[in-house]
Amino acid sequence: MHDADLVIAGGGLVGLTLACALRTAGFRLLLVDPATGPAAGHDPRSVALAPGSRRIFEALGVWPLVSEKTAPIRRIQVSERGGFGRLRLDAGEMDLTALGHVVMNRDLEAALRRRLAEASGSVRIVPGAKVQTPESASDHIRMQLLENETCRSVSARLLLAADGAASPLRQAAGLSIEDIDYRQTALVATVRPGRPYQGEAFERFTPDGPLALLPLPDGRMSLVWTVRSAQADDLAAMDDRDFLHALQQAFGYRLGRLLEVGDRGAWPLRLRHARRRRHGRMLLVGNAVCSLHPVAGQGLNLALRDVAGLAEVLHAAARDDVDPADAPGLAAWLTSQQRVQRRVTLFTHGLVGLFSNDFPGLRLGRNAGLLALAGLPGLRRGFASLGMGRHGGAGRLARGLPLDVDADG
Ligand SMILES: Cc1cc2nc3c(=O)[nH]c(=O)nc-3n(C[C@H](O)[C@H](O)[C@H](O)COP(=O)(O)OP(=O)(O)OC[C@H]3O[C@@H](n4cnc5c(N)ncnc54)[C@H](O)[C@@H]3O)c2cc1C
Repeated sequence: MHDADLVIAGGGLVGLTLACALRTAGFRLLLVDPATGPAAGHDPRSVALAPGSRRIFEALGVWPLVSEKTAPIRRIQVSERGGFGRLRLDAGEMDLTALGHVVMNRDLEAALRRRLAEASGSVRIVPGAKVQTPESASDHIRMQLLENETCRSVSARLLLAADGAASPLRQAAGLSIEDIDYRQTALVATVRPGRPYQGEAFERFTPDGPLALLPLPDGRMSLVWTVRSAQADDLAAMDDRDFLHALQQAFGYRLGRLLEVGDRGAWPLRLRHARRRRHGRMLLVGNAVCSLHPVAGQGLNLALRDVAGLAEVLHAAARDDVDPADAPGLAAWLTSQQRVQRRVTLFTHGLVGLFSNDFPGLRLGRNAGLLALAGLPGLRRGFASLGMGRHGGAGRLARGLPLDVDADG
């Protein structure tokens, strides 16, 4: 008898979503995270959730707990600083009410934690602890739980490592990654614009990197401003007034005068993609498998789709009383996801390369490209589909359907 069937290492957005999706499968599940409670209130990060991600949260019963704290993106305006091309993507044109929804990470995390707390099921959260030194055997995986400087040994049938981009568990297993340092840093903040934005999001390409302003529900906007890392320290050190001034210069006056900036943070940007995601009875998920440049807002959306399908495979294994590490369909799902992750990685990396390059010919080509997209509705819909993470072949959760009859509704 093992201590648990499944252990999820990492209580970020991906680990929490996976726990929500698996809570009714009938597994004994441990969720282990170094944090001792919900994220602090001053994390300025937000995510733009694609329609498929929203459907996953609806099927998991999480959406009603967070929907009031989301803002719909009805239109996206893409432009280049100093360029003549401009592209407008419109939800109506794609027969959607919204191209996506923006939510602060901390609000989404709180909703996931609430759902886990209120749902009947078999998830036990172990706060303030880390998973270390996993070792796979033929019918189980043994690991150490480090809690308050004491270690205890735990065995399970499968370890799901959702321990983030640096993934200590991936490193411990010696799984190699493709690793590209963009030498760019994302400066993240909330900003209050002088003019109402009415559901519009802005993506503006500058010579230093893309700058995105996304709507939030309270009249503020979420800023993700990518700059060269050498420049980021100077901008981060500025007081709010100078920072707003620099931002206004980079963004222009489409939203009137930028009036106020809230908490700020900085995230150095790398592409990290694990060449293999399975090691014995350990499986990487979320940023541990693939962490992307935020230019296209794909990282979490990609991971949610992945864990939704994974949860479906594991539910079936529990129903048929099969070892989850040998679940039928697991290998096929991992192979299909490898292809999807590769495609999204190339799309995202290509966008960074295309718009970070200032050769005059390329600049002209970009502007001509934006103009062409603007003029051709079919092409524009295709571009928006890719950006929204529509990659085909989604499982039940991504179609908004529950995995099981949910006892707690
Ligand atoms: C600026 C920025 C903007 C972004 N915008 C978007 C967007 O608009 N749309 C989108 O889809 N994505 C976006 N992303 C990507 C998205 O934020 C990530 O893909 C997502 O948050 C990854 O979640 P995760 O749970 O995999 O990792 P993390 O959030 O890093 O969580 C990992 C967790 O594992 C824990 N941990 C570490 N080691 C251990 C251990 N040994 N044992 C147990 N636990 C451990 C950590 O404490 C942490 O809680 C953005 C990213 C950035 C940086």
